Amino acid sequence: MRISQLFTKTLKQAPADEVAKNAQLLIRAGYVYKEMAGVYAYLPLGIRVLENIKKIVREEMNAIGSNELIMTSLQRKEVWEKTSRWNDDVVDVWFKTRLKDDTEVGLGWSHEEPIIEMLKNYVHSYKDLPISLYQFQPKMRNELRAKSGIMRGREFVMKDMYSLHTSAEDLQTYYDQTIEAYKRVYNRLGIGADTYVTFASGGAFTRFSHEFQTICDAGEDVIYLHREKNIAINEEVIDSAVEELGIERSELEKVKTAEVGNIFNFGSQKTNDMGLFYTDNKDERQSLYLGSYGIGVTRVMGVIAEKLSDDKGLVWPEAVAPYRVYLVSIGDVAEQATELYESLQGAGVSVLYDDRDERPGEKFADAELMGLPYRVTISERLVANNQFELTYRASGETELLTRAELLAKIG
Ligand code: ATP
Ligand code: MG
Repeated sequence: MRISQLFTKTLKQAPADEVAKNAQLLIRAGYVYKEMAGVYAYLPLGIRVLENIKKIVREEMNAIGSNELIMTSLQRKEVWEKTSRWNDDVVDVWFKTRLKDDTEVGLGWSHEEPIIEMLKNYVHSYKDLPISLYQFQPKMRNELRAKSGIMRGREFVMKDMYSLHTSAEDLQTYYDQTIEAYKRVYNRLGIGADTYVTFASGGAFTRFSHEFQTICDAGEDVIYLHREKNIAINEEVIDSAVEELGIERSELEKVKTAEVGNIFNFGSQKTNDMGLFYTDNKDERQSLYLGSYGIGVTRVMGVIAEKLSDDKGLVWPEAVAPYRVYLVSIGDVAEQATELYESLQGAGVSVLYDDRDERPGEKFADAELMGLPYRVTISERLVANNQFELTYRASGETELLTRAELLAKIG
């Protein structure tokens, strides 16, 4: 992509009403546009980051045998009434509206009930099980507060996955596999070292659910952590968890975190409430066991922006960066820069080419703000010496390289 063709422009200042660092940086660098509090549009650079995150999540969910689909945002009231979750006292984030004929409908904040309802058409016998389904879907939640930038949206992208099993044991096995898949996701996203599988409230069948909590000052959660034993507990359940795990509270360190994922074992309660059953090999009706597994895709993007940025701007890990290389041309070297741009792209390296007629300082500042892993500079002086300047965004280190050395490093 040539920057001269990119419609977004970098900003020196974030809008005055934006208080979250992640959104300030993402707005300034042209990744997102703020429509209103908690509601953000994803611009060309932002989409590429989201797609990279989704690709990683998709690969790991496919690897544990899950099927991708897309459910609807408009949802039926009757479906949610079966579990009493249509009630605003039970779920306090609903957006509800009406069709022209006055039928009340909701905007999807989650999809357990609609998925189970749909599966009545597909799941009949033990031969149809187990199954796992997932989607990337914009969720709508009428959140009370939305001051954390894209980390808390009123409209946001979640990966939600649901699995159905013939027994509690089979669900538990899949649940454990999902924990491992989630760890691989966060590792690949570059936040694995600071992300903890955390005991949390909300399990229906089991006493606890498991959250994936990433250490982050801008996070809204607090967990208690035992780094050596690798135990993490959400403060909401600290008393009961400490008792159950037999550990001393004084051994635990209190840290601020952001919840980047949450998985639940619903047992057979929800499927019973919804009236979804299967017949076993003796043709008898049996209950189904449900697991539900979320990842906050846009929240993860915000957490990465918060955690890995520095005073100059964003710093993307390679796996999620919108482009790998920021190519800067200085002076009368358009021909050489264009040639490198095209040959890198030909070799499968994604490049954002700053072909604008701007001062070098301006280009360098934008490169730092946008946070691509590598900056390659071409200038008249460098061309005369047959050299390329390579700068690493994360460390700020710079090297002078031959073309072959450059391609070996960034190719
Ligand atoms: P929170 O406690 O932060 O409100 P939650 O527990 O209500 O989140 P879940 O229903 O568990 O959220 O949703 C699954 C995942 O979706 C969460 O782990 C989180 O990463 C993400 N998520 C939830 N709410 C939001 C939101 N408003 N904006 C962005 N991501 C969200
Ligand atoms: Mg949660």
